[in-house]
Amino acid sequence: TDFKSDKQPTWCPGCGDFGTMNGMMKALAETGNDPDNTFVVAGIGCSGKIGTYMHSYALHGVHGRALPVGTGVKMARPDIEVMVAGGDGDGYSIGAGHFVHAVRRNVDMSYVVMDNRIYGLTKGQASPTSRSDFETSTTPEGPKQPPVNPLALALASGASFIAQSFASDALRHQEIVQEAIEHDGFGFVNVFSPCVTFNDVDTYDYFRDNLVDLEEEGHDPTDYEAAKEVILDSDKEYQGVMYQDENSVPYHEKHGVTEDMSEIPEGAPDDAMDLVREFY
Ligand code: SF4
Repeated sequence: TDFKSDKQPTWCPGCGDFGTMNGMMKALAETGNDPDNTFVVAGIGCSGKIGTYMHSYALHGVHGRALPVGTGVKMARPDIEVMVAGGDGDGYSIGAGHFVHAVRRNVDMSYVVMDNRIYGLTKGQASPTSRSDFETSTTPEGPKQPPVNPLALALASGASFIAQSFASDALRHQEIVQEAIEHDGFGFVNVFSPCVTFNDVDTYDYFRDNLVDLEEEGHDPTDYEAAKEVILDSDKEYQGVMYQDENSVPYHEKHGVTEDMSEIPEGAPDDAMDLVREFY
């Protein structure tokens, strides 16, 4: 697609992030976007490199801080498409606080997390979504604590769109990201994106054998109680849109943020400096 840059990814051959990114690029194109109106924000980690491999406006930011940057971009320019990308370490550990607040603000952007249940870039430490018995370099006997359930965290924070997909199920993954983009509000997709180098438990085969597609199960994402049930079911690995609030109103519409807000009012910096001087 037009969204592919001329940079060759340095991800390990077979990494799930290839499939995750391909689906994101196709979903952006299918929803009528082009590189000129799209801003991709990424954090730190193997996933964080995505802004280089995609052809669009992009910012490879600070660890765990991609969501506040994306929020700022969308507030300044509500007319452009903002997609935030990250990993499970970036988003659910150092970025967990930002995740909760981005979710509850319901800013109209998509957030795609490449969840491989391990820290890949730093070579195989336990991440927030690692299984409790997963032996890693930092947890030789496993983390001995339950993994973070990012979907439940989102639901508890008042999310208006919660979904999960699998990098290797290309078409479904693309469709699900498309729905997140089209959603009026914060579209959150947790993607099973296997790390073939450091995670020998949450593999392609594991997800292929265990994935349950909610669409085939007749799940109704607008039914909050049904959504709660699948989100809290830790025995299964679900794919699909789990929850969608059909009445969601994105932040900029609810609070009258228009394109004009990107203009700094006359004299604003001086006023701000006066305040700072007064404070100190
Ligand atoms: Fe992908 Fe893991 Fe390699 Fe990182 S270390 S590029 S997550 S396979």
